[in-house]
Amino acid sequence: MDRKALITDLQHNKERTWDIVIIGGGATGLGVALDAVTRGYKTLLLEQSDFAKSTSSKSTKLVHGGVRYLAQGDILLVKEALHERGIMLRNAPHLTANQEFIIPLYRLWDVILYFVGLKFYDLLAGRLSLGRSYYISRKEAAKRLPLLKPEKLKGGIVYHDGQFDDSRMAITLASACVENGGTVLNYFRVNGFLKDEKGKITGVNAENLETGSKYSINAKLVINATGVFADEIHRMDDPLSKPTIRPSQGVHIVFDNSFLQSQSAIMIPKTDDGRVLFAIPWYGKVVVGTTDTPLDTISLEPKALNEEVDFILRTAGKYLVKKPSRKDVLCIFAGLRPLAANPNNPSATKEVSRRHKMTLSPSGLLSIIGGKWTSYRRMAEETIDKSIKSGILEKRKCVTKKFSFFSYDEALHAKRLQIYGKKAVEIEEMMCGQPALRELLSQLLPYTRAEIIWICRNEMPQTLEDMLARRTRSLFLDVRASVAIAPIVADIMAEELRYDNTWKEKQLEEYNKLILNYL
Ligand SMILES: Cc1cc2nc3c(=O)[nH]c(=O)nc-3n(C[C@H](O)[C@H](O)[C@H](O)COP(=O)(O)OP(=O)(O)OC[C@H]3O[C@@H](n4cnc5c(N)ncnc54)[C@H](O)[C@@H]3O)c2cc1C
Repeated sequence: MDRKALITDLQHNKERTWDIVIIGGGATGLGVALDAVTRGYKTLLLEQSDFAKSTSSKSTKLVHGGVRYLAQGDILLVKEALHERGIMLRNAPHLTANQEFIIPLYRLWDVILYFVGLKFYDLLAGRLSLGRSYYISRKEAAKRLPLLKPEKLKGGIVYHDGQFDDSRMAITLASACVENGGTVLNYFRVNGFLKDEKGKITGVNAENLETGSKYSINAKLVINATGVFADEIHRMDDPLSKPTIRPSQGVHIVFDNSFLQSQSAIMIPKTDDGRVLFAIPWYGKVVVGTTDTPLDTISLEPKALNEEVDFILRTAGKYLVKKPSRKDVLCIFAGLRPLAANPNNPSATKEVSRRHKMTLSPSGLLSIIGGKWTSYRRMAEETIDKSIKSGILEKRKCVTKKFSFFSYDEALHAKRLQIYGKKAVEIEEMMCGQPALRELLSQLLPYTRAEIIWICRNEMPQTLEDMLARRTRSLFLDVRASVAIAPIVADIMAEELRYDNTWKEKQLEEYNKLILNYL
């Protein structure tokens, strides 16, 4: 991904009419962009910040059908997501994994309830099942989860779901778009629409936030994939449009693996206040999280509420032998879920749905809102199909079901580099040429100098935060360790991207401010 070359192409072809312009570079927008380019449409995606900067880097990192939606009786939603789970694990094996979960059981009635429920979950997954669910005894549950409190434990139910690296998946999608002839640009904000005399949208006004350069871009179709920001885009189209989003915040805390010491994840389907609590191993740490709190404000950097953090610490402490406290927190991250709301009564939580929603405005703006990471491919397919059915685009067949991202040969590469797929070989070649590049930047994080250099050359990082939060997951894995390596990473980036000391100092200053949201 060469940002300069993509911008030069945009400048040299100002009169071009794109088939599709997508606003928003999260899971939804990037998924739509890949679907569109692989069908052969001339596609441009514009992201106001970095790819996956918003919700798409702050998920629970599960590729799942959603056991909890099953409990809510939304069987079709679960079935669709389970199917997509299977496709995602098959198409992106370098970024996904089959994860064993254990539901600890404390009442005999729960043994029957969850056993039957999860058997049904297996059934819905059909051919794409990741492994059958089964009951384990109290002794076996204690063996697999040695740090789960044994008191009153009756046994456990084992089931399987997928796990992934959300922001690396986003970067992989962006990179696949460019490889297939699309243009994706970060730090490009859409500020308004171009319209014809009938009020139909004919393109967008956009700004390169790095240089301040303004662009008028023509398009046959504009797609709004801006998640929790979708209503801002609706108001650019029609200042009187009613709210359609109900934001809801979810918080996760990352701890050292010494709190779990297991390859199995824990799933508590019903905590004291009726929420779900997960404790999931991820890159050698443990991510603990729960469900959402409705909010009234949206931001690119939502901040965890004190009561949410206290709730997670308190509840995790009830189940784990080693009780976590504030000093054990490696990172806290909060994400905003773009739940679809009832436009006539935006605060009516009962009406809020987890399903994605598509709307086509009278001016021709196609919005795709809600849903989940797991379903990004299906949502994209439905979005492009809708624009074909509406007569905006000529008919072309979706090909993403069997779109394989970077084949990866386990025998060839170090396991740790598998997140780069087939490109791992390029990083290994760099390391062979200069063994010093092989050294870890920190004993607490799994990243080397070679990866930072390779990412600078191939993955469009524009800021220190892009590198530490989303290209590598340093910020999410251990905030303090990420701060410790920040100066050396800034040095490498400045050298590779040809920036001066002032850039470096500014980046470090901004990063040191940002991390306060994550501690
Ligand atoms: C706490 C939490 C946990 C979750 N866990 C899971 C999970 O484990 N598995 C799962 O499948 N799903 C999960 N989800 C759901 C999933 O993360 C979201 O559905 C998905 O990330 C939404 O992606 P999006 O692209 O629609 O939105 P976003 O990721 O928010 O992307 C929208 C983008 O639009 C950009 N934008 C806004 N305005 C403009 C503009 N004017 N110009 C250009 N760009 C603009 C923003 O900067 C942003 O990057 C979770 C959600 C939350 C909140």
